[in-house]
Amino acid sequence: MTAVYAVTGSASGMGAAVVERLTAAGHRVITVDIAEADVVADLSTPEGRRDATEKVLAASGGRLAGAVLAAGLGPAPGRDRPAMITQVNYFGVVELLEGWREALAATGNAKVVVFSSNSTTTMPLVPGRAVAALLGGDAERAVKAYRLFGKGAPAMAYGGSKVAVTRWVRRRAVEPDWVGAGIRLNAIAPGAVLTPLLERQLATPGEAKAIKSFPVPAGGYGDPGLLADWVIQMLSPAADFMVGSVVVVDGGSDAWFRADDWPRPVPGRRLRGYLRRMREFRKERR
Ligand code: NAD
Repeated sequence: MTAVYAVTGSASGMGAAVVERLTAAGHRVITVDIAEADVVADLSTPEGRRDATEKVLAASGGRLAGAVLAAGLGPAPGRDRPAMITQVNYFGVVELLEGWREALAATGNAKVVVFSSNSTTTMPLVPGRAVAALLGGDAERAVKAYRLFGKGAPAMAYGGSKVAVTRWVRRRAVEPDWVGAGIRLNAIAPGAVLTPLLERQLATPGEAKAIKSFPVPAGGYGDPGLLADWVIQMLSPAADFMVGSVVVVDGGSDAWFRADDWPRPVPGRRLRGYLRRMREFRKERR
C-alpha cells in the first residue's frame, strides 16, 4: 500500500539510500535537504526548520506514515561548526518531529527513525551539561560548554548533539502523545559508514587518523545501503512493538569498549526512582 514518508538529509548518503528503497517499494517520499529536494530548507536556522515543517505538512495533506531524520553535520574544523552541528543535528530533528507529530498521529501507526550515532557511547568526555542544556532547549549554553575543548569542540558538539537527540527520542517515545498516538519512535546508531560525510572527515588529516585507528572488530566501514535496510525494517510492521530503541549497527565498536556497561540491573541506589516510575505508569494508564 502506498504511504507517505518524510525524509530529511535525503540528497546524500544514508538518507538518499532510504529514499531509494522507499520509492522502489512504491511509497511517496517528501524529501527535505539544503539542496536537491522537494523541500529545500536550511535546518541550521529556526526559519528553515519552520519552513521544512510547514511545507512537509502541506505536501502530505497532514498525514504521514513515517519519517526518517537523517540530515546531519559531522565534526569538521571551524569556529561556527559546534553551533551548526547543534542546530542541525539536535534542533533539526526535534523541532521537525514536534511539528509533524499530529500528521504522524493521523495515520494511527506511524514509524519514526532518527539517526543517532555510536559516538553516543564510544566518544569519551562529552559534557553532560551540554546534553542537559540541549534537552532544556538552550543551544547557547551547550555551545559554551564545548568551547573548553578547543580544537576538539566540533567533535564534542557532534557527540553531544547525538546523545541529546537520542535521549529526546527515548523520553518522548514512551509518552502518551507519541506511543499513545500510535507513533513508534526509535533511533539507529551507526558506526563509521562510507558516505560523503565520512569521506569529508577522512579528507581532514587529524580526523582521518582518529577514524582509521578507531577499533572496529568487523573491520572496514559500514555500507550506506545496509544501514538503509535497517531503517526500512524499523519503518515496517516489524517495528510495531519497538519503542524507544537504539539500534546500534557499528561493526562492534560499542561492544568492544562497553560490553559490560549494558545490560545492567537497576542498582540499589536507583530503586526508589524505579518504583516511582512504576507508580507513575499505573497512574497514567488509569
Ligand atoms: P551525508 O553528509 O551523506 O548526508 C547528510 C545530509 O544532510 C546531506 O544531504 C546534507 O545536505 C544534509 N544536511 C546537512 N546540513 C543540512 C542543513 N543545514 N539543512 C538541511 N540539510 C542538511 O551524511 P550521512 O553519513 O548519510 O549521515 C546521515 C546521518 O547519519 C547523519 O545524521 C549523521 O550524523 C549520521 N551518522 C553518520 C555516520 C557516518 O559514518 N556516515 C555515523 C554515525 C551517524
